[in-house]
Amino acid sequence: MLVASEVKGELARIVPARTCCRRAELVGLLYAGRARQGLRTLDHGTARIAVQLAGSLGLPVTAPKARGARGARPGRHHLVIDLDGAAIGTWSWASSPACDRRSFLRGVLLGNGSVSMGAHGPHVEFVFRSRAQASELLRRLTQSGAHGALAQRRGRWMVYLKGLDEIATLLQLTGANRGLLDFENGRVAREVRNRLNRLLNAEEANLGRTVRAADAQLQAIAALEMGGRLRDLPEGLRAAAAQRRLHPESDLDTLADALGISRSAANHRLRRLVLLARQAEGGEDAAPASRRQASPNRQPGWSPRAGQARNARLRAG
Ligand SMILES: [Zn+2]
Repeated sequence: MLVASEVKGELARIVPARTCCRRAELVGLLYAGRARQGLRTLDHGTARIAVQLAGSLGLPVTAPKARGARGARPGRHHLVIDLDGAAIGTWSWASSPACDRRSFLRGVLLGNGSVSMGAHGPHVEFVFRSRAQASELLRRLTQSGAHGALAQRRGRWMVYLKGLDEIATLLQLTGANRGLLDFENGRVAREVRNRLNRLLNAEEANLGRTVRAADAQLQAIAALEMGGRLRDLPEGLRAAAAQRRLHPESDLDTLADALGISRSAANHRLRRLVLLARQAEGGEDAAPASRRQASPNRQPGWSPRAGQARNARLRAG
């Protein structure tokens, strides 16, 4: 499962090998800040990587200083790193290679992004004072394949990404491989779980239907037998009744196999049994003795047990 705080931790431990990438990441870290303000962050890992990157590029940098953050919870301090953005020199997204663009985005995510797991899934957002900065980041993200959206909230401009694919793309771009792996595992686990639940629910519903249908059929068969009507039914119906009694819990496919007929034919016979029992119960179509005797399927001395045995023999043969 994706742990939001660990994503930044992982990103902050990446030290790019190339100078060009280090410079780009530092530009990203300072992207949201105002000129010459340096970097303010609540995250120790971010403060550490900023100092490390600046130091490795030979830029003047101070150790992080803790300052009480306005509006922050008591005990939470911003870490402030005095770092002159102008000393980094000009940097251009348009003329930078892919490695630097990825490093830049990692810097922005560390310096100004937040990753969270909400009730509706993962969420990444960047908050800016300036609309132009927000729009520019949105454009750069889009160019990189991570599609976000822009929103205004309490006088600030937000770029946010939601949706599993967009966030997976961002994690991949910025090099949060561990986070991506956890994220993908979480996503796969979630998808498997959802699919399994759907299957189980469907299975349960099916099972419920099968059990209810079988129960009605068994009752119908018992009623037909009690009324002395079962033995006069056509052979196909008697065979279906016998199989249902042999396999009280089987589904239609099993019964159809046992009868050597199609599923729909088996279904038709079982429904017919239920219908006949209902009709007998309602007094309709009560077969007179003469008709019973006239039935071509009449087999004197037939009993359910004998019928079952006969059917078993038929199957075996
Ligand atoms: Zn590079």
